[in-house]
Amino acid sequence: MRCDDLDDVIEALAEGEALSAEHHAHVAGCARCQARLAMARAVDRLLASREAPEPPGAFTFRVMERVGREQWRAEQIVDVGFNVAVVAGVALVVAGAVGLAWSMGWLTVERPTLEAMSTAIESWLASTLAKGPTVALAALLLTSALGLWWWVEGETSL
Ligand SMILES: [Zn+2]
Repeated sequence: MRCDDLDDVIEALAEGEALSAEHHAHVAGCARCQARLAMARAVDRLLASREAPEPPGAFTFRVMERVGREQWRAEQIVDVGFNVAVVAGVALVVAGAVGLAWSMGWLTVERPTLEAMSTAIESWLASTLAKGPTVALAALLLTSALGLWWWVEGETSL
């Protein structure tokens, strides 16, 4: 048996574990391994004598407080996501209703509403919405896609 063969078992030996007679025989006749064993035992004693540090006084309280705060923040994020989803849903319903009303011819161009927008948007809206249910459906799909994107954006940016 060579010194290298004890590399993996020197710790166990230091902790007092009984190993094979060959191991013990080698240590008995090898000054180098005796020194290694003495060193390993010294390290073990040193580690055993070290006291585990006491946690600071309000440790548990502070940890629980932080957990509560993190939880509250997570709930806030869910709330924001929910509100945005509700707003997007309402916008979707309104857009769908307007599109439907428009395609059914129940809605005439409301000048006061459209005047608030730029002329380009106004004419684009007027021309596209006037094309009927197909465009209204497309607008509905676009709105829902935007609503979804908005919701995801709100969820990740907070
Ligand atoms: Zn040795």
